[in-house]
Amino acid sequence: MTLVKDVVCGMMVDPETAPAKAVYKGQKYYFCAEGCKVAFERDPEKYLAGGGTGTHSGGHHHGH
Ligand SMILES: [Zn+2]
Repeated sequence: MTLVKDVVCGMMVDPETAPAKAVYKGQKYYFCAEGCKVAFERDPEKYLAGGGTGTHSGGHHHGH
């Protein structure tokens, strides 16, 4: 089983059970909730640009 990162909130989600997913530029993205997908689709570049460069470790909480 491989978990993928929800680029919006940083949570790890399982593609098999992810409640929301989107395709952007041929790449699949999975989200922990519909709200994260909506946020991603509103401004994908914002979230993709932020990835990789030292994402906050801890302290950032998101809903359950
Ligand atoms: Zn999320």
